Amino acid sequence: MFLGFDDTDSVKGMCTTYLATEMVREFSEFDLLGYPRLVRLNPNVPWKTRGNAALCIRLGTGSGKAAKIGEIAGRDILSYRKGKPIFPTEEMFEKAIRIIEKNARFGDPNTNPGLAISFHKPPANLYWKAVRDVVRLQWHLEEANPDFAHGWKNKRGIIGAVSAMAWTPRDRTYELIAYREKKRWGTPRKVGAASVIRMDKKYTGTFNNYDYEEKRPVFAPASPCPILFGIRGEAPDYLPAAMRTVESEKIDRWIIFLTNQGTDDHIIPASISNLQPYTSVRVKGRVAGPAKVIRGGHLIFRITNGRSSVDCTIYEPAKNFRFVGERLRPGDSVVIQGAVRDRPLTINVEKLQIVKLSGAQVKVANPLCGKCNKRMKSYGKGRGYRCAKCGARSDKAEYATERRDLELGWYEPPAGAMRHLAKPLKRMQNQ
Ligand SMILES: [Zn+2]
Repeated sequence: MFLGFDDTDSVKGMCTTYLATEMVREFSEFDLLGYPRLVRLNPNVPWKTRGNAALCIRLGTGSGKAAKIGEIAGRDILSYRKGKPIFPTEEMFEKAIRIIEKNARFGDPNTNPGLAISFHKPPANLYWKAVRDVVRLQWHLEEANPDFAHGWKNKRGIIGAVSAMAWTPRDRTYELIAYREKKRWGTPRKVGAASVIRMDKKYTGTFNNYDYEEKRPVFAPASPCPILFGIRGEAPDYLPAAMRTVESEKIDRWIIFLTNQGTDDHIIPASISNLQPYTSVRVKGRVAGPAKVIRGGHLIFRITNGRSSVDCTIYEPAKNFRFVGERLRPGDSVVIQGAVRDRPLTINVEKLQIVKLSGAQVKVANPLCGKCNKRMKSYGKGRGYRCAKCGARSDKAEYATERRDLELGWYEPPAGAMRHLAKPLKRMQNQ
């Protein structure tokens, strides 16, 4: 049985992943099959909460060996790879409703919780639509057809709840999330920065822990939510050891999630001529004009495919990533990945690849006389060259392609300015 829920967090605190730990704790009479899933959905929908994260846990009767994937209230959380499913009941549905009503922040205007319970896994296309597009609640609910569903306020949380159940990973990462003691919620977090660097260097399968440009840990949120920090990695097995490397205040509970973070699942291959607002795209183009810096320190440059063109924006928080954009010149071939905004039509750049640098031909030397092996003398602009010794003539000076202060390849913003779904270059290189 799949239990999905979404949109219980708010900017003022709480977090849907914490609610997942409460669900796991409250439903401990059943076994957890697989990892709890933390599924990020389309980051561009206008009504999203903070991270647009949906959660799903799978409950049943486990068989075979169980692995420890977390600790809540001093108790080990075990997960089974295999197991028999259980049928959802009215009683379980009501219990889940009570847990959400106790924990969700209904007062936040952007918090619209949703809950769904289903024996069957909904079709995977529901996930793909919700991570890449703007979806209609009615359609999503009908296609998923869960055994039980409940939505609060505008009910849009149901979309995330069924989409998290529908996710069939093509690419995946893991995140160990450590939570704070309740009495510390809202106070500054105590995490030793040096120990974060140590952890980051030792556990090379982890990513987005520390921003070496800004010199600060970025694996902890800045909001008053219950999360102490989250360690993201390619595999789950070394995450608990990585957690123990970090020196911090007391960890109240921790659990490992299977997630779609860092997968680029939200990206749609597209053309500059056909951009849909609220989607995230990958487009090819040539730089159409020099980049300009606008108020606030944001950088804008225009790209074209010959027929259509679009502005690309790199925001100030991306820091040095902007300097890559600044050095682009008309004619450079690039691949841009980012979110499409309309009015004015813009791509907010999440990542970019320089495919080809346009190099102007610059004169490096006068022609060489083949007979005397000496450089010829110029007659003046446009009038050719002549060898001073033998009188031979030429109008072909030596040219070379101008050197550029940029390398081909992918560029990304610092970890702290990256989207949850964006695949870090570190992952692209490892794959
Ligand atoms: Zn000569």
